[in-house]
Amino acid sequence: MSETAPDCIFCKIVAGEVPADVLGRNDHAVSIKDLNPQAPFHALVISVDHHDNAAASAAADPASVGHLVSLADEVAKASGNGDYRLIANTGAGAGQTVFHTHLHVLGGSSRMSETLV
Ligand code: 5GP
Ligand code: ZN
Repeated sequence: MSETAPDCIFCKIVAGEVPADVLGRNDHAVSIKDLNPQAPFHALVISVDHHDNAAASAAADPASVGHLVSLADEVAKASGNGDYRLIANTGAGAGQTVFHTHLHVLGGSSRMSETLV
């Protein structure tokens, strides 16, 4: 039985109760297109189980985060040249707005290597 939280938008997307453009999935994660893309390719990789953030998922099951990264790599390779940036916003002060573990997979822009880090 998966862990879920009531009124969590990503739990509802994982359960198929809210529609999304699904790019791929494995036993631990579902990848969808971000509703508000910040790059030419912007996917989310959402954990199947509800935890507040990637660190909480890692604390509960370290291997689960590896499965998120594997799916991110898979969808980035399927949709572009396989070069991408992974972001896991953690905490409201870092821009997290949905408190269910997810990775942003950003790619498709030559400016990607110039910004942030
Ligand atoms: P955060 O700011 O928590 O790191 O990222 C949340 C992301 O989820 C945002 O980029 C936002 O555009 C995306 N998002 C929020 N609600 C939905 C939704 O219902 N469907 C999709 N596809 N993306 C969503
Ligand atoms: Zn959730």
